[in-house]
Amino acid sequence: MLEIPNRVLVVAAHPDDVEMSCGGTIAKFATQGAQVCLLLVTSGECGGRRNTLTAEQMIAQREAEQREAAKLLGASGVEFLRQPDGGVEYSSALRGQIVRQIRTWRPDALFTHDPRTLLLDWNEVNHRDHRVVGELAMDAAYPYARARLLYPDQLSAQGLSAHAVKDLFLWDSNTPNHFEDITDHIDARIDAVACHKTQFPKAGPVAAWLRNHASKVGEQKQMTYGECFHRVDLRPVF
Ligand SMILES: [Zn+2]
Repeated sequence: MLEIPNRVLVVAAHPDDVEMSCGGTIAKFATQGAQVCLLLVTSGECGGRRNTLTAEQMIAQREAEQREAAKLLGASGVEFLRQPDGGVEYSSALRGQIVRQIRTWRPDALFTHDPRTLLLDWNEVNHRDHRVVGELAMDAAYPYARARLLYPDQLSAQGLSAHAVKDLFLWDSNTPNHFEDITDHIDARIDAVACHKTQFPKAGPVAAWLRNHASKVGEQKQMTYGECFHRVDLRPVF
């Protein structure tokens, strides 16, 4: 049985990814006292099929939607790195920004995309930004944030210290090994998803999809509604 983490960092590619993937677990952990910060690598300006807004208007709108959703989940921090939507590239500089956030927020648990997933289990392509962000965040957690000789300028010039994340939770994984019962938090998750009006102008269809998906996940472990992850225990073995 996993103890509830005191501090949680969620690293996601786009606004709405957190709510769509782990919103129930985040709401559950926040209710039980966890301090949660969301780190959005892009502001999702290319998302949605029916929008006629400019990129600048989309960034403003989607960041506002994300802040509103974060409040409903009980997250106390939301940060945006404003990388280009659809154009996230793996780089040492971007990895360093995630390392800095880990060393600042000092989470016990880090949630992100499973970078190995090319196709989602409902037979959709997993967005390239998701895969790249998952790899960046996973690497940032291990080994970069914990090793004092990696990104050493953050320690000497910025007053931070190395930080070891204890648990990594990868969502949209094809090898789930950890299930969370979100039955008491499915409504919070659905309400948070509904904040993303640029993506879901009608709340009904996405709410039905979320209930159906969470129900299918939960039924594997006798839960009414569940979320699943590939969990990696990063505590040192020796
Ligand atoms: Zn996304």
